[in-house]
Amino acid sequence: MSSGRYSGFRLLREAMAGHQGWRRAWHPAEAKPHYRIAIIGGGGHGLASAYHLAKTYGIRDIAVLEQGAIGQGNLGRNTTIVRSNYFTAPNIRFYDAALQGWERFEQELNFNAMVSQRGTLNLIHTEGQRDLFARRANAMALEGVDAEYVDPAGVKALVPLVELTNARYPVLGGFLQRRGGTVRHDAVGWAYARAASDLGVDIVEHTGVIGITPGHPITLSTTAGPVTAERVLLAVAGHSSTLAAMAGFRLPIETYALQAFVTESVKPVLDLVVTYGGGHFYASQSDKGGIVFGGATDGHNSYAQRGSWPQVEETMTAGLTLMPALSRLKVLRQWAGVMDMSMDGSPIVSDTPVPHLYLSTGWCYGGFKAIPAGGLVAAHLVATGTPHPLAEHFRLGRFRAGAQIDERGAGPYPWAH
Ligand SMILES: Cc1cc2nc3c(=O)[nH]c(=O)nc-3n(C[C@H](O)[C@H](O)[C@H](O)COP(=O)(O)OP(=O)(O)OC[C@H]3O[C@@H](n4cnc5c(N)ncnc54)[C@H](O)[C@@H]3O)c2cc1C
Repeated sequence: MSSGRYSGFRLLREAMAGHQGWRRAWHPAEAKPHYRIAIIGGGGHGLASAYHLAKTYGIRDIAVLEQGAIGQGNLGRNTTIVRSNYFTAPNIRFYDAALQGWERFEQELNFNAMVSQRGTLNLIHTEGQRDLFARRANAMALEGVDAEYVDPAGVKALVPLVELTNARYPVLGGFLQRRGGTVRHDAVGWAYARAASDLGVDIVEHTGVIGITPGHPITLSTTAGPVTAERVLLAVAGHSSTLAAMAGFRLPIETYALQAFVTESVKPVLDLVVTYGGGHFYASQSDKGGIVFGGATDGHNSYAQRGSWPQVEETMTAGLTLMPALSRLKVLRQWAGVMDMSMDGSPIVSDTPVPHLYLSTGWCYGGFKAIPAGGLVAAHLVATGTPHPLAEHFRLGRFRAGAQIDERGAGPYPWAH
């Protein structure tokens, strides 16, 4: 049964009737023995792929197999930032398609995801960085995507908390994308799960995949018994290499923990997303008033969703250098997610050495913003067997061919992204 259309009128009607008429946003399903398509991983990419397979490609016989509950992976752990300020033309096109997807998201999915295009500001601290951001802004302008340079006075006007002359890396200016911003991450998962479920997709929670046997159909051993499927999509973020190993192949993916933090709530003091280019630190203020912030990945491989102390210290130091006033706030919570870091920092949406097994991975620490386009291109690949025009450059084979994507202008070195 559908959860019905959400609207201001419905909210009013339910309020008058004691909120007795709401139905579950999606149906809890149990895995059937066979599906046309099985998607492993109920994160943002798995759910968006299921939605697009059902909506755009008309395939309804689909299961999303999620080992936990929806939203407990990186989808519900990220810092909610969306933007399309990339450097290489194919990446600008892909990520701007995603940003346009966020601009339509709430109308299309009939769900309030608190899409807030408050702007994202990258700070500039060296002449080299200014040069790089100017090149990036020009590359974006050539693709018709907004980007603008802000001088130090403009930075101070936008973010009064920033200490322009901080001793570590004084601020020389900023690189602003006004269409960037934040989107409430759990709402994104709930919206896609609800829409996919309404279209007939089985959202199967608490069912982990523990084995993959290639063949046609592919057999998945799950914690709820075997499931076979004509085609399978792996969308398991930091667990991609372990699931690929189950299917018998290796991936150019390493798993690292990425941490984030939130402070106690304060009145509005930070009304855009700001990124410190001199150290690993970025922050925004949530609608509840907490300052949400994070930094770089931990320095060693890990599957633990908690993170390590040295990175806590590194992130705090960078944040307090940039915005010393933050020292007055108490940190309420800290958490981490496990990142699927690809060797060139760009995603992999591709077929694999195993026939009928497809991948959506390598989203690194920036995969949340990609979800509306990532779901579309993965659905296209699984439905048609050919890459979507927006994602031809995301093929797995680029690593074998030495054709890595040089997004950071830093060459094909994993440590440099
Ligand atoms: C602290 C932090 C901050 C971040 N900030 C941002 C940001 O501001 N902007 C941005 O764009 N990106 C950000 N990211 C990155 C972003 O969250 C990820 O790139 C993106 O969410 C990954 O895609 P996903 O949502 O599908 O992953 P997930 O939500 O992790 O989905 C993968 C799912 O697969 C499931 N799974 C794993 N193994 C199995 C199995 N064997 N069987 C069944 N299910 C399985 C997991 O339980 C999980 O739910 C951040 C990440 C973290 C951790």
